[in-house]
Amino acid sequence: MQINGKAVDACSGEFFDIINPATGELIDRVPRGAEDDATLAVEAASSAFGGWASTAPQQRGRVFYRAAEIVRQRKDELAVLLTQEQGKPLFEAKNEIEGFANVLEYYCGLVGSLRGDFVRIPQNGYAATVKKPMGVCAAIIPWNMPALIMAWKIGPALISGNTLVLKPASNTPLTNLTLASILDKAGLPAGVLNVVTGPGELAGEALVKNYKVKKISFTGEARTGKRVAELAVAGMKRVTLELGGSDPMLVCDDADLESAVTGALRGRFYNCGQACTAVKRLYVFESVAKEFIQKLEAAIRNLRVGNGMHENIDMGPLNNRRQWEYVKELTAEIKEKDEGRIITGGKIPESNVCGKGYFFEPTLVVDVARESRLLKEEVFGPVLPVVRVKDLDEAIAEANNSSYGLGASIWTKNLDRVRLGCEQLNAGIIWINQHLKVAPEVPFGGTKESGIGRENGPESLSEYLDSQTIMLKI
Ligand code: NAD
Repeated sequence: MQINGKAVDACSGEFFDIINPATGELIDRVPRGAEDDATLAVEAASSAFGGWASTAPQQRGRVFYRAAEIVRQRKDELAVLLTQEQGKPLFEAKNEIEGFANVLEYYCGLVGSLRGDFVRIPQNGYAATVKKPMGVCAAIIPWNMPALIMAWKIGPALISGNTLVLKPASNTPLTNLTLASILDKAGLPAGVLNVVTGPGELAGEALVKNYKVKKISFTGEARTGKRVAELAVAGMKRVTLELGGSDPMLVCDDADLESAVTGALRGRFYNCGQACTAVKRLYVFESVAKEFIQKLEAAIRNLRVGNGMHENIDMGPLNNRRQWEYVKELTAEIKEKDEGRIITGGKIPESNVCGKGYFFEPTLVVDVARESRLLKEEVFGPVLPVVRVKDLDEAIAEANNSSYGLGASIWTKNLDRVRLGCEQLNAGIIWINQHLKVAPEVPFGGTKESGIGRENGPESLSEYLDSQTIMLKI
């Protein structure tokens, strides 16, 4: 745990193990923080708030620039740590660390836009709106992209003058702790950023319930998000909820099939399928389905699965036993209930049957039954279900038939189809002839059970600022 930028042990003195998902080996142990630890961290953040809120935004930005520079200098070491605790291949870990630095730099560029407004009110003088930081914020994050999601939270929260307590996921706190210590070295004043490690039900809930915390930014499962929202509403706190997704990919008959195959491959198997905006349902026009599926199957068979630390690995293990068991259960159910044909994958790789890693083969399931859990639930793992559709109307209807609305992609060269997709797909992000790419410049977030609020882009600042109106009779 880090309070005031310095490492401290948990009040309870208890620790928990961080395990490498590729080998089952113990990497490190971190404090099992609970309510007392969360309270200490909130107190530190509260004490630091006045000083940080009155620091010039440009000065806050300079700390971020220095931190981004140190992160880049230490990119290789940080990527190794991330691969060891999360499981992703080293090249993906390096991209994520680079993404952390890019996001911090993006927020440095926004310091000039931290301003209010001023209007003349006829017969009454003038009115001003002032934007003020809210105070202590709490950020609770998942294990799939711990570095990038940390940046998405601390970027807008700290640049706007708030202080923050971060609770990492229990499986992946090490990269977060190291990044926080880098911000400390870059000159972030003590108490502005604090990290509490520990179980969500203890450390996480204690943060959400603490009356000094004014804003909660949560990323994780929809079910956990609902619990966090209930607690936050009880304390009248503002929330941003970035929850799950079941993104559809729509492949039309005029699509460039080669690039659609590459998009589906990367969209589904990147990070071992553990991305909120991964391609989780694929709808392809019947007329090109046979050719598309053949090409996709061949590409999937070429993926190299293994320890992310090794050379030339395309896909690492799942991050934890729970996800691994879930994926095994789902694929077994497909076979038992005859809800689709697994044409490649569907089992633990031969090379790992007796091993300790959470590996699973990249899996392609075709002719999936509409009622299958593969289409109804958020499958956070390397299993891609494909459904044949007759036209775009059917594809859009099926795509929208989900409780989630995070992202969706449409693959076509026809502008009318692009327009129809943008107008009718119910999702926070629409990709045309691509999937997965996100950028700090544009808002990110979903509709329906995918959450409330947006991260990234200038819009994200208003999630961490209060508006105050001043009426002037002059
Ligand atoms: P999770 O909901 O299990 O846990 C997320 C975080 O919440 C962890 O830090 C956990 O310790 C904490 N937590 C658990 N119970 C809590 C409670 N009662 N009170 C407060 N905190 C609690 O999610 P996960 O399994 O870590 O992550 C996977 C999920 O995250 C997927 O659903 C994925 O789609 C989603 N996700 C969404 C986005 C997005 O931006 N929309 C990005 C990445 C991941």
